[in-house]
Parts: sequence; C-alpha cells; structure tokens
Amino acid sequence: MNTATPLRSHASSRAETSTIECFNPATGAPLGKVSACSAIQVQEAVERARNAQQTWRKSSFRQRRAVLQHILDHVLEHADELCEHIVKDSGKTYENALLGEIMPICNKIRWLQKNGEKHLRSEKMPSGLLMHKRARIEYIPLGVVACIVPWNYPLQNIISSLIAPLMAGNAVIVKVSEVVAWSSQRFQEITDEALRREGFSTDTVQIINGYGDTGAALVRAGVQKILFIGSAANGRRIIEGSAEHLTPVVMELGGKDPMIVCEDADVEKAVHSVLGGIYINLGQNCIASERLIIVDSMYDRIMDSLLPKVKALRQGAPVRGGQVDVGAITSPQQIRIIDTLVRDAVEKGATLLAGGIPIESNGGSFYPPTVLTGITAEMRIAQEEIFGPVLLVFRVKSEAEAVALANDTAFGLHASVITQDHEKGRKIAAQLDAGATCINDFGLCYLNQDLPFGGVKHSGFGVMNGRDGLRSYTTAKAVLEDRWKFSPPPVLYPVKPMDYEKSLAVIRLLFGAGARNKLQSLLTLVKLSMFKLSLFKTATSKLSKTRP
Ligand code: NAD
Repeated sequence: MNTATPLRSHASSRAETSTIECFNPATGAPLGKVSACSAIQVQEAVERARNAQQTWRKSSFRQRRAVLQHILDHVLEHADELCEHIVKDSGKTYENALLGEIMPICNKIRWLQKNGEKHLRSEKMPSGLLMHKRARIEYIPLGVVACIVPWNYPLQNIISSLIAPLMAGNAVIVKVSEVVAWSSQRFQEITDEALRREGFSTDTVQIINGYGDTGAALVRAGVQKILFIGSAANGRRIIEGSAEHLTPVVMELGGKDPMIVCEDADVEKAVHSVLGGIYINLGQNCIASERLIIVDSMYDRIMDSLLPKVKALRQGAPVRGGQVDVGAITSPQQIRIIDTLVRDAVEKGATLLAGGIPIESNGGSFYPPTVLTGITAEMRIAQEEIFGPVLLVFRVKSEAEAVALANDTAFGLHASVITQDHEKGRKIAAQLDAGATCINDFGLCYLNQDLPFGGVKHSGFGVMNGRDGLRSYTTAKAVLEDRWKFSPPPVLYPVKPMDYEKSLAVIRLLFGAGARNKLQSLLTLVKLSMFKLSLFKTATSKLSKTRP
C-alpha cells in the first residue's frame, strides 16, 4: 500500500444538496446517486407515518411478532447479499458485516419476540393506600418515532433502531447517514416486505436519506420521540431543535472508553480484549476501547505480546475467505479527523509504536491499526473521540491511578477491566463513570439484550435495549379503577370541624414508627370520633328540644 497524499472529498460535506454521491471507500468505485429528502418531503413522510400508525397501534402482539419474524427471515435468507451491500458501502470486512451487523440484528429480533409482549402488556400494580381501587400501568405507543443514525453499521444502525419502537406500536422514520445512503435503499425492502405480508402499510417504517439538514427537519417535524445516535456536537443541535415541540430524546453519543489492565491480568486474555476492543470495525465504534491503561508491573508483558499482533494485522479492500483482518475507513472525512488528532499528538511529543499514516491504495482510503504512547493532557487526542483504529496506551503506577485516569474525560459510554480477581473487577467497575462495564472483555454488554445500553456524561442519556429501552417508546399510563361495583364516593366537601385533627391522626397511624405511636394515634382517632358522636348527640337533643 502507498502512503496517502490528499484525500478525495466526499459529497457528504456539502449541506442542502439534493443528491448524495455514493462510492465504495475501499476501492473508490462509484455506487450511484441517492436523493436527499427535502424538508417538505420529511413533513410528508411524517404525515404518512402518522396515518399508518393509526392502524399499526391497534395490531396485536402476535402480528407485531410476525412482522419481526419476516424481517428476521429476510435477513437470514439474504445474509450474503446484505453483507455485500454493507461491505461495499462501508469498506468493512465480510466477517465484521456478519458478526457486527447480521448477528446482533437476529439477536435483537429474537429478544423482542420473546420478551416484547411481557414488557409491554398492561401491568397490575399494588393499590397502596387506596385499597378500594385497582391500579395498573398501560404502555401506550407514542405515535411516530424518529431515529437519526450514523454510518458505522449501515444495516444494524437502521434495523436495530427501528424494531423496538415498532414492537411498541409506533410508526418509525429512520434518517440514515449520508455516508452510507446507497445501501439504505436496499434495506427499505426488508421492512416493506415484512409489513406487506401482514397486511400493514409500508409507511409504518420509512427509511429516508439526506444530510444534516434533513435530520434537522425531522427533529422539528412534530414526531413524538427522537432516538439520536451520533456525535455529541450534533446531539446538542438535536436537543436545541427538539425544544420547539418539547419532543423527548434519547441521546446515544460518542465515547472514549478506557480498558484497565490490572496487575494480575491474564496476558493472553488482555491482549485479545485489546485487539477486539480497538480494531473491530477499525475502531469506528462508539464503544471502541480507545484508551488502554496498564498498571506498571504488567506494561512490558502486555506490550511485548500486543505490538507484534497489531503490526501483523492484514489490511486491504475486503474479500471473502479470511484474507483481510481490517478493511477501509468508511469516509474520507473520518480519515481526516483521525489524522489530525494523531498529527497533533505526535507534534506535541507522543510516540507512534505502530501505524499512524493514512494510506491510499487502489482508490481506497485506509488508516492502519495504530498504537500511540506518551499522551499528555495538552494533546487533543487525550480528550476528543478518535473513532478510528488508534490505541492510546497509558502506563500507571496503581489501579487507583488507573481509575482516576479512566474517569478523566467528558465521555462515559463503556469501560473494561481486565483482572483475574472478580471481586477486584467489581470494585473497580463500581468506580468507573460509564453506562456499562465489562469485566474481562471489551464491549460485549451490547450483545446482551436484557441489559440497557447507554452512556453518562457527554456520552448521552436514556437507553436503548432491554426492558427500559423498549418501554421508552411508550407512555407509561397510570390507570386507577374501582375494585368493587359499589364503592363509596370520596366525600371531601363540605369540610367538617374535626377533619384536620382526624386526618392528622390517620397520617400518624399509617406512617408513624413503632407500635406505641400507632396506638396513640388510634386512641386520638377514637376520641375524635366519640367527640364527633357527642357533638352529634348534643345537636340532635337541642334540635328535639326546639321542636314543638
Ligand atoms: P454525526 O453526528 O455526524 O451524524 C449522525 C447523524 O446525524 C447522521 O445521520 C447525520 O446526517 C445526522 N445529522 C447531522 N447533523 C444533524 C443536525 N443538525 N440535525 C439532525 N441530524 C443531523 O455522527 P457520525 O459521524 O455519523 O457518527 C459517528 C458518531 O456517532 C461518533 O461520535 C460515535 O461515537 C457515535 N455513535 C454512537 C453510538 C451509540 O450508541 N452511543 C453508536 C454509533 C455511533
């Protein structure tokens, strides 16, 4: 491979354009043009979705499971062809397309089929103080959900985002990243076919293309919820736009995940976790383990084992047959971001131990697996997300120092701790600012659908996945009804002379601590009732005396 000179510009850098020119980043081959949705078209799509949702919201769980099954069948049956589309549009390897996209989609669909109804059907709740009432929560679909997604997993980002809101009875509009617009046209066929087969309108799920302005129009189009997956910078813009209609948002943003290697780590296990953590999908993962923090006593052993393996990774245009370990970077803009951060670090004194120079080869845009040490606070790379195959390695004196360093960024998506001591792993995990921590592995939490997925700090808020992710696409509506047919009405008015004293006695009886306090409150209540009785007697006797 030749080292790169200037990188070709991608059409996605131009805003307000009506077409998107698509090409294969691993070969530079043009893939075609895709229309970008205008603001008016976005509004029309939302209207169509709103209409379609009126029918879809009444669908049974059995029908929703059936639609998901058709999606699953389609994905499995056409897995090879879908991988071909993913690979052409993103430059990732076939293995990564299969394990990083097809497999998680299947896993998520199965989970929703198995657990969706359980988490969405109405739920009986205790009556609390109101023993004469029955209480329940009903999970009501919201309406139209907008998902605005990035480019790193062209198929997975689309399907995984839409299936949970769909299962919850919503119509969904997915705004795809301009960087992978080409394949999205093929992916629309998956949901169209599934909905048609069950007799529902294909407007229930619409996949739309466009640049940032299309996304901005969708944010302001009056949808009922927005799932935004992307950079923190655009996350802020989404929040500003969503304020117009007070639209709730889930923010799934960037990360700068730490992987802490403790002094008792198993070297082999640690090295494989590092390789997976940073080089899968060439680090174009929100949960890439960008920062490897090694406790002093383990440093040399880890680095001696790791570096030859990094240098041996085979990079090139993806081909089938296990000949390439890592592919291309999906967009030239991303190469520029990575290159700028690495150059800045090197200029300020960081040391490159592997990679570090962009590569252009046969029309493709590549960035090699890179290892960088000597990172200091004034380097941009210490704080900014790289979103590329660059591993920053830090040497620390103790595990306490490792935790402090791990928490020293604005992000808090995921984190890993590598240790053979489970108790120690749990203790360190508890101190890390992160939405999830994997002990002895890289970001595998994502594959467990029972776990929520989300971040803290600038990595976002709200969650995808799991029960809470699914229910977040509903309104949890409280319903209270009479337990018996002839329940007494609540008589509050007119206020009577002893109401205040009696209410206080009841509150103390219910919430006071200890049998003595409760007994005292009960006696007060009895006295007040007797007082009321004597008042009543006096009043009636007075009345009878006044009668002729
Ligand atoms: P990005 O923020 O540039 O774009 C994401 C999406 O937002 C795209 O579809 C884009 O067209 C759209 N968009 C851009 N400007 C917009 C605006 N003003 N209004 C509405 N929509 C707008 O992100 P990217 O470069 O596509 O993806 C990389 C980022 O995504 C990284 O920060 C990565 O960590 C993050 N990411 C997060 C997760 C997660 O689950 N936390 C998953 C994958 C990627």
